[in-house]
Amino acid sequence: MPIKECKILTQHLDVEGITDIEVYKQHGGYQAIEKVFKGMSPDDVITTIQDSALAGRGGAWFNTGMKWSFMPKEPDGPSYLCVNCDESEPGTFKDRHLIAKNPHQLLEGVIISAYAIRASAAYIYVRGEMWEEMVGMEAAIEQARAANLVGENILGSGVSIEVYTHPGAGAYICGEETGLMQSLEGKRAEPRVKPPFPAAKGIFSRPTTINNVQTVSYVSHIINNGPDWFKSMGSERYPGSFIFCVSGDVKNPGLFELEIGCCTLREIIDECAGGVRDDNDIKAVIPGGSSTPVMTPDQLDIVMNPELWAIPGRGEFQGMFGTGGIIVMDETRCMVDACLNLMMFYAHESCGQCTPCREGIPWVRDIVWRIEHGQGTPDDLKTLEDVCNNVAPLLSPAMSTICLFGPSWSYPMLGFLKCFRSEFEEHVKNKAIHA
Ligand code: SF4
Repeated sequence: MPIKECKILTQHLDVEGITDIEVYKQHGGYQAIEKVFKGMSPDDVITTIQDSALAGRGGAWFNTGMKWSFMPKEPDGPSYLCVNCDESEPGTFKDRHLIAKNPHQLLEGVIISAYAIRASAAYIYVRGEMWEEMVGMEAAIEQARAANLVGENILGSGVSIEVYTHPGAGAYICGEETGLMQSLEGKRAEPRVKPPFPAAKGIFSRPTTINNVQTVSYVSHIINNGPDWFKSMGSERYPGSFIFCVSGDVKNPGLFELEIGCCTLREIIDECAGGVRDDNDIKAVIPGGSSTPVMTPDQLDIVMNPELWAIPGRGEFQGMFGTGGIIVMDETRCMVDACLNLMMFYAHESCGQCTPCREGIPWVRDIVWRIEHGQGTPDDLKTLEDVCNNVAPLLSPAMSTICLFGPSWSYPMLGFLKCFRSEFEEHVKNKAIHA
């Protein structure tokens, strides 16, 4: 049976004029805000979102309502919501579509989320390269302000919430929540040690909740339709839909919003993305953005339900679900070359703050470069494993770095070695660029 798309967030993306507030309202927009500001307390909203079991879609899959509940109920000063739109993970490209094509959907969720956590202001932190998307978001904010949905005394409720956009400078590490906070404060995006967690000491040392674009975009839909509606889709622990981005060697790359757990990884590639280009065989698949370990064709029948995966669900399948950025590589691809491509990217993006990452990732990049260019030695594979295992053993909670960037490059490196070791060995043995 063909896979049925489950369009919640993507339902109106292609409606002509949906970026205009009037068109958005004609399609049911801003009804949730009316419902919230005219009859729900902040705790009612938190309870509704908690009951829906909405989990953060940025990769951690933590319960959103519970995260909100960590914020102070009676803040002794300003507290903040920050929306992470620094989408930088290679292979992941959904947030930019959500804000470019339907900015009011995100904005409605932002205002309701800020109200729930008693934030006086919300920042939408947008990756620097996404300038047009940010300008579109600013236009939506001004339209909402004119309609008394942003700013002072929203809908006569006595509640005031300001919403700002903030451009990043295009660094991957700005997507890490504490790096993002540093950047927002005008500092270098060097991640902070946790604790303290953002809910206790976030932006400008004030309580802060950081949520991902996709997560916040669900909020108005859950308010309108209720938590049971949301829980009627997807899996028990992770209900609702999820947007998968499929790229690489497929016939029909793009975004596909599917019910969580409705199909396997292979079905997404074959049915949604039209299968592999030129009808070649699949050689490798990165399942959820470039920091997730690569998979081999025999593993693709795993159901796309995070519960079943070791990360985040502690499931039996030894893989990492990630952000939905599926990258398909066909039989023509050299795995050493693909690995080198990623390691060059990660070496460029380390903030350099802690030694295992600052020294480790250029070391790994240089070794893979030598192997790819016919200069590898038999000891190199062991060195690669040692360096990576000292940063973070594959899919282990242990790590020696300040932030998750360390595992973000050691997991894929170890994954390539685990799945395609023979290809690395062939390069070393034959001193050849392509084994
Ligand atoms: Fe910076 Fe890397 Fe350390 Fe993270 S792990 S703080 S990116 S040096």
